[in-house]
Amino acid sequence: MLGKLKYLLRSIILPDRLFLLSKTQQEKTLYLTFDDGPVPGVIERLLDLLDKYQIKVTFFIIGSRAESNPDLLHEIHKRAHTIANHSYSHPAFHKISHTEKIIEIDKTNLIIKQITGKPCTLFRAPHGRWDKRLILTLLLKKITAVHWSRDSQDFLKEPANKIAERLLKQPVKSGDIILFHDDNTRCIDALDILIPQWLAQGYCFSALEHKY
Ligand SMILES: [Zn+2]
Repeated sequence: MLGKLKYLLRSIILPDRLFLLSKTQQEKTLYLTFDDGPVPGVIERLLDLLDKYQIKVTFFIIGSRAESNPDLLHEIHKRAHTIANHSYSHPAFHKISHTEKIIEIDKTNLIIKQITGKPCTLFRAPHGRWDKRLILTLLLKKITAVHWSRDSQDFLKEPANKIAERLLKQPVKSGDIILFHDDNTRCIDALDILIPQWLAQGYCFSALEHKY
């Protein structure tokens, strides 16, 4: 609860360009975000599901995984989703030095640039662990710190229908940035339940955009 309040306060104090918790939208829009990929055997199925509903999303990728699977990163880019930075090796950010954090970010941005040809301006810290110095450094690097306003809690490893149920019980709202993890297939099965429901409620979906 205290954590949630801290993120809310931060998003009120800091401009969206600096710290993004949710987006203000005229239209009913949801932002699906996927952390910790790309993982072979998962991403292919997820991309097909998103194509089925013609939805664009944002992938917060782990640099080392992308480095071992450059074809998968290419495929995400080819299908016009947004590729964003989620560190190189997913360390606990509160346990490593500031310099190590920056190395994690820079290394991954380089990998993304090699694939997309453009600088990456979106970053999400592993486990959403932010600190003031990190946010200030991101500002200087013109990178937006992206948190989330809804957590699917798919990390709890519950069945897909449980994940879907939770997100339907406490309805999403326009501008929500929703956190999923695509290091396993649970999110795919949950989204196959959720997306048609959200579409029926009049929501459209959008990827976060890099600001150059
Ligand atoms: Zn993560």
